[in-house]
Amino acid sequence: QTPVCIITGASSGIGLWATRALMARGWHVVMACRDTAKAEAAAREIGLAPEGRTIMQLDLGTLSGVRGFVSEFRMLGRPLDALVCNAATYMPRLTAPLRSPEGYELSVAINYFGHFLLANLLLEDLGRARDPRLVTLGTVTANSEEFGGRIPIPAPADLGDFEGLKAGFKDPVAMIDGNPFKPGKAYKDSKLACMMMSRELHARFHDRTGIVFTTLYPGCVADTPLFRHAPRAFQRIFPWFQKNVTGGYVSQPLAGERVADVVADPAFARSGVHWSWGNRQREGREAFAQSLSPKATDAARARELWDLTARLVGLE
Ligand code: NDP
Repeated sequence: QTPVCIITGASSGIGLWATRALMARGWHVVMACRDTAKAEAAAREIGLAPEGRTIMQLDLGTLSGVRGFVSEFRMLGRPLDALVCNAATYMPRLTAPLRSPEGYELSVAINYFGHFLLANLLLEDLGRARDPRLVTLGTVTANSEEFGGRIPIPAPADLGDFEGLKAGFKDPVAMIDGNPFKPGKAYKDSKLACMMMSRELHARFHDRTGIVFTTLYPGCVADTPLFRHAPRAFQRIFPWFQKNVTGGYVSQPLAGERVADVVADPAFARSGVHWSWGNRQREGREAFAQSLSPKATDAARARELWDLTARLVGLE
């Protein structure tokens, strides 16, 4: 039977190229995208055969949208072997927070809350597969073990004592730690929360369900549309800098292959792991299990974050 993977945010960048890489390995990919017309155009542009993919509408920024997507996916009658929590928005130039229909700050709502709800709802479906995997895109900027995670512009990821979540995360609250709104930090915080979510999924469900929960940092894919809201000069200089100065640059096709490895390759069947290929790219470099900062690995904090989030997304 053809294995099936849902990839969120497959209309561009890493998700699109991961779709291609998985299809090349014989998988059927459900491209779960906010803008289905854009996804169709992108799929055609890189030559993804229509029979190997299904494009479905998913707006992660609305809780009802996530629930509606899960119902519609089930109506397809397909099995589910893997879920890739990939979509994200990065809006570093906002001066005031945007809000989801529920009133939550939008980047955390899309990147973290939407995936938290989606992952929880699909556990049941994944649990029926033979080698199920739930893969979440992490990032170096959310791991203070590494240089990229200590950059103080605008501030490193830090969820404080979850004061903002405890206060309900609605206006005037805009940050998980309850501090004043910093859009670039909101992105980093959302990614740290996603990485904690993956570890907590592992702690709660791996033994019971056999699902392999992992995160990965595919490298710095500096030319994806993720940076479309950054200043134009940044968009020009950043890829050059990553290629020629840090050596961290990874192409979109290679990043897609790395995601596909973590989804499909037996070498990546270890749950609770954060996979990395390092920050300086070298030809033929093997993946390794990267250690994460105490901010990401503290089990009591991960449990508390889980409980607070479950309440905010209506799972309790
Ligand atoms: P892209 O901007 O190319 O892709 C992001 C995708 O998320 C797009 O398809 C976008 O759709 C989708 N998306 C945004 N908002 C929503 C929403 N509300 N509902 C559903 N989908 C949505 O970025 P990348 O490919 O670079 O990023 C993919 C992932 O990789 C992210 O999680 C990012 O944090 C992570 N990552 C990226 C790195 C990089 O260097 N680029 C490095 C490490 C991690 P639309 O086009 O409609 O907005």
